[in-house]
Order: sequence, then C-alpha cells, then structure tokens
Amino acid sequence: MGALDRIKNLLPWGNDPAPTEEIGSDGPLTAMVIVAHPDDAEFLCGGTVAKWCAQGWTLYYVLATSGDKGTHDEALSQQELAALREQEQRDACDVLGVKETIFLGHPDGYLQPSIELRGEVVRLLRQYRPDVVITWDGFRTGFNHADHRAVGIAVRDAVYPAVRDHLYYPNDKADGLDAHQVNEMLLAGTEDADYRVDIGDYVDTKIDAILCHRSQIGGTPEEVKKRWMERARASQQGRIVESFKRVSIRRSNRPVQPPDEKAAETVKIEPAHTPS
Ligand SMILES: [Zn+2]
Repeated sequence: MGALDRIKNLLPWGNDPAPTEEIGSDGPLTAMVIVAHPDDAEFLCGGTVAKWCAQGWTLYYVLATSGDKGTHDEALSQQELAALREQEQRDACDVLGVKETIFLGHPDGYLQPSIELRGEVVRLLRQYRPDVVITWDGFRTGFNHADHRAVGIAVRDAVYPAVRDHLYYPNDKADGLDAHQVNEMLLAGTEDADYRVDIGDYVDTKIDAILCHRSQIGGTPEEVKKRWMERARASQQGRIVESFKRVSIRRSNRPVQPPDEKAAETVKIEPAHTPS
C-alpha cells in the first residue's frame, strides 16, 4: 500500500464512489437537525423531517439560539421573545413529529464556530447517537446569516473527527458518553445540492409547521402555501423537493494493531510516481 492510499484509508472521505442509495432505504434511522434559529429547519427541511417521522424515524432538533433578536416590536424583551420563539418551535416540532427539541440558549446573532460550541454539539451527538445530521452549509458563498455559517462549521467539525475520537472532549467519556460515528450529513441551504428528498406528500405538514412560527410569518396559511409552492415548483420542474449537499462518512475501518506493529505503521513518504 502506498503512502497516499494509506493516508486515504485514515480519512472518512476516501476515494470510494459516492453512495447512490436513498438514505434510510434499509429502514428507519435516527436523525438530528442542528440549526441556528427557530424556523430555520422548517424552511430548510420541514418536509424531509415530516416524511422521516411518518416513516418511523426518530428525530431530534437542536437550536443553537432562541432567535431573541428577530422582532421589530420594541415592547418585547429579549427574554420574552426567546420564550415565544421557543414555544413556536416546539409547536412546529409537534406538527412534524419530532421527539425532542433542545435549545442551547446562545445569543441570537453572536454565534461563533467556537471550540465550546463544537463541544456542545459533540456531547449531544454522543448522547443521542444519530445516524444522520442535517445542518446549514457553513461554506456557502452567497449571502448568509453569520449564525447559519457558524453553526454549519461547528457541526461539521463536530461530526468529523471530534465526535468519533474519544480524546476530543474527554469529559464526555467520564460522564459515560462513548464516542460515536455519524454516517451521513445533509447540508442545507447549499449552492451545491446533490441530494433531493421528494416531499410531495408532506408539503401541507411543512407549511403547517412553518405557520407555527406566528411571530415571524406574515399572511394567511393559503398565501404562505401558495408562495412556497410557486418557489418549489419553479426550481424543480414541478417536483416538490428539499435539496441538500450529501456528505457520506464511511465506517471507520482502522485496524486495531498490537503495540509492536504500530511503529511500522508510520506513514512513509515514498518517491513520487511518474505521472502516466
Ligand atoms: Zn436563521
């Protein structure tokens, strides 16, 4: 095995062909949706969440902030707004069938992809052990809210490699939480979508969940649905889909070696081969 192959074998994204099967084709899975603000997830992936819940999946939501800056009403305090938006999010999760909704309580608009935020995410992943994570694409180049970018980067860095390797955030182990591997990430709000979930049967549920965010959404249910359906149809030739960038992570297959062989396993730099 050459040095390059050896290095590739240590990475979760090697040169395997991208999987083509639908996520969950072998049966219901556990998924965690990790976003910045109440209402992010309903717009990004509410139909996918509704579909998976209907298929027997277990869904968890994590909200990094409680959206406590999102109002023009000067009579509302940040605490009152946060409480209102948390309740709206819980209502939306009830509509979709989400099992549990977790608020991290960071201040809206000030989120950073910090070591601490990554650690909070790692701990939740080790606790709830999802197969699939949905989060913001933290690297999209167009306009994006700084909190979306921050949570996307923190989650991505939590999924690889921190959650998998027990020496990251070792207090988790002391608290009885083992390392964990997430097998799939779906990055939402991406400019580089390569995975689409048909939500044709779940549009009404998605709209109902969006409408739970009463302090954010203007218009009647009919108007909201019409607006959203027109946008969805325009983008996908009549199919109603939610789009993601899929990042599949293959199972760690590092051989467990006896100590005396470990030294020989050091990656050697081999002479560059002649390009053909
Ligand atoms: Zn947002």
